[in-house]
Amino acid sequence: MSQYIYHVVTYSDKSKRFRFDSKPLNDYLLHKTMQLLTESVKPKPIQFHTGLGDNDINIIRSNPGYMQPLIEAYPSVPIVLLHSSYPFTREAGYLATVFKNVYLDLGEVFPMLNRDGQVNVVKEAMELTPVEKLLWSTDGHLFAETYWLANKQFREVLEEVNIISFYVCLSSILFNHLAEILWK
Ligand SMILES: [Zn+2]
Repeated sequence: MSQYIYHVVTYSDKSKRFRFDSKPLNDYLLHKTMQLLTESVKPKPIQFHTGLGDNDINIIRSNPGYMQPLIEAYPSVPIVLLHSSYPFTREAGYLATVFKNVYLDLGEVFPMLNRDGQVNVVKEAMELTPVEKLLWSTDGHLFAETYWLANKQFREVLEEVNIISFYVCLSSILFNHLAEILWK
């Protein structure tokens, strides 16, 4: 295995690419990592880029729905779906709803999408996903302004989205938690 890794790293270096795009190696490393996380007392979350990204991804196969067997195989490992899984936000929301260990991160679409697109992503995520399973990140990089802009746009979108539905979601969660405490 170490020889194989050396070959892949060398190849990546010669081709001036900094990605491991060898599926057998990636699968091996991923399953090893997931096993280690499963064995740890309190597993740390693992993040996956899903949906949009650079032009070397296969956009069809970046649908998080393809991750269902992995999600089911490691139920104790918290899995975070990054990039809002755009344009597969609904699929990601479904996974975060039906699998206890899945979370949806509403990042990257700020500022990648126009305002309508950003609003739709937040609305689609809130159609089904429990609010406590929604996360947010700037995905800022290279320039400090990317962090600032993502932060600003996300706040603006939250104000624009029907904030009442947000609070209805939140209150239903609080009610459920309260019910759990009272009826246990
Ligand atoms: Zn990213």
